[in-house]
This record gives sequence, C-alpha cells and structure tokens, in this order.
Amino acid sequence: AGTGKKATWNGVGVLKDGLRVKVLGNVGSPADAAAAAAAGAEGVGLFRTEFCFLDAAEEPTVAEQTAAYEAVLAPFKGKPVVVRTLDAGADKPLAFLSPDPEPNPALGVRGLRVAFDRPEVLDRQLQAIAAAAASSGADVSVMAPMVATAAEAAWFVARARQAGISRAGVMVEVPSAALSAREILQVVDFISIGTNDLAQYVFAADRQLGGVAALNDPWQPALLRLIAQVGEAATAAGKPIGVCGEAAADPLLACVLIGMGVTSLSMNHTALADVGAKLATSSMDICQLAARGALAAGDPGTAKLAARAPH
Ligand code: PEP
Ligand code: MG
Repeated sequence: AGTGKKATWNGVGVLKDGLRVKVLGNVGSPADAAAAAAAGAEGVGLFRTEFCFLDAAEEPTVAEQTAAYEAVLAPFKGKPVVVRTLDAGADKPLAFLSPDPEPNPALGVRGLRVAFDRPEVLDRQLQAIAAAAASSGADVSVMAPMVATAAEAAWFVARARQAGISRAGVMVEVPSAALSAREILQVVDFISIGTNDLAQYVFAADRQLGGVAALNDPWQPALLRLIAQVGEAATAAGKPIGVCGEAAADPLLACVLIGMGVTSLSMNHTALADVGAKLATSSMDICQLAARGALAAGDPGTAKLAARAPH
C-alpha cells in the first residue's frame, strides 16, 4: 500500500533485469535510523558518528560511545551498516577535537587527518564501534573520511583490524583519492564516494556557499568523469563501491551511477522509495547508456537530458 511510486518498490534494491543493487540509508541519530528502517533501507551506507557528539564538550568515553552507536545500530540487526569514524572539522566542528584555528578549515586537519596526531582517539572509537557491533548484531564495517592517499587508507585499515573489525574501507571525497583509486582498492575492502566533498574539492567551490552552488551540482560532467574512473577501478578490483553523497538521492543520477559500476547507494530516508522505484524500472543496459550519455555532455543540463534519453 502507499503511493503509486512507493508501491513499485518493496524495500529490496533491484534493477528491471533482476540485478541487485544495495539501497541504503544515511543516518546520524537513532531517529534517523528508525526512519531509514521504516522506509525500507536494506542497511546503512553512511552512519555519520560525529552527529552523535556535536554538543559534547569533552571526548565521550568508550562506554558512552558504545551506547550511542548501539542506539543507532538497533534497527539493523543482521543488516549491513557502514560506520564512519569521526569526520570532525570544517562544516562539522567538534569541541573536543577542534584544531588550532586554521585559515582554510575545509583544507585543514579534518576527518581522518585528526587521527594522525591523536591516534588514541581513533582507537577508542574503533573499540566502541566493535563493542556496539557485537552487542547489536548488525553487520558492521568501518570507513574513514577525508582520506587523500593509499598510505592513509592502509594506516586506517590496519588500526581497524587491530580493533577486531574485519571489514574496513575509506571514503573517496578528495580528488587525490579518486585519482589513486586503483592503489587504494588494493588495501581496503570497499570504497564509498562522498560526492558532496568530492564536488567541493574538484571545483574548488565551498559546499556551504550559496554563491558557488552551481559548481557543486553533482551533474557537472567533470565530477561524473572522475566518479566513472573510480567506478572502473572498483569494477576491475572486484570490490564494492558505494555512493553516499547527495548524488545518490537523485533517482536519475542514481541510474547513471549504477551504470558507472557503483554497487550501492546510500541516502536520506526521504529519497529511498523514489530511488528504489526508479531503479526497478531501469535495466543495467539503460543505466550504462545513461552514464555514457551524461559523461559525453558538456554541462549539467545536457548531462541530465542525455541520461533521461534511454529511459
Ligand atoms: C560527502 O562528502 O559526500 C559525504 C557523504 O560526507 P559528508 O556530507 O558527511 O561530508
Ligand atoms: Mg564528506
């Protein structure tokens, strides 16, 4: 029951030709998690853990972190959940991790970079994630934000394994990481493209600034070409590749991403039904034609038209 669109999606991501695609939720709180589960998310492709501690003056203890993560994992027993380690800094400052003032916070010590100086903070978080994974029964993997090189990715994966977490990946949201996808894929279990930051850094356009929003359009062909390169690398490596930025929430763009080799899409719960319904009416052939058309376009409007043509 429900609206026409929702009725065509049963909560399992599948293309018209029967190929499976994971359709997952982005969450940052127990309320988000409940909403994503209710909307039919097959799991979670991005758990933004920093959202749990935006008001924390001091680093939460391992016990406090474990409880916070358990509350978010609760609806996903037996389902895949990708827990992202703290992405503090720039647009998401955390009081207990704030660096010395920086002239360009988006280019500064944020995300995984914070952990290079303070690895014990990362280790305590990984310990709490491992504990919450065990008690919740969710199928948990971890991923790091703001990774720039394969060496950084390898450093993170080693620490995750030391904490007893067997599946570890990284976000691809810095252009250097996208350009190093082949090398990164050799040291991680999966990657997930963060199109919000990737667009910001590809176009040198602050994602928080309305005046440059046209450059932060995920239909920009330059961004799509970079994503396609990463998709090819993941396909060649035979490893899962997700998209968890806003691009995944646009049904037509979701098809384009699948046509580029992306294997899972993670989005706000409000987008799940529309994306799921669109995928159900698109075969892989259509997705690949849509991708090819969009990649050949010269501007976002033309890319959109080209992606719509095979549908
Ligand atoms: C992204 O950058 O696309 C992403 C998913 O991470 P966040 O929006 O939390 O920076
Ligand atoms: Mg990001």
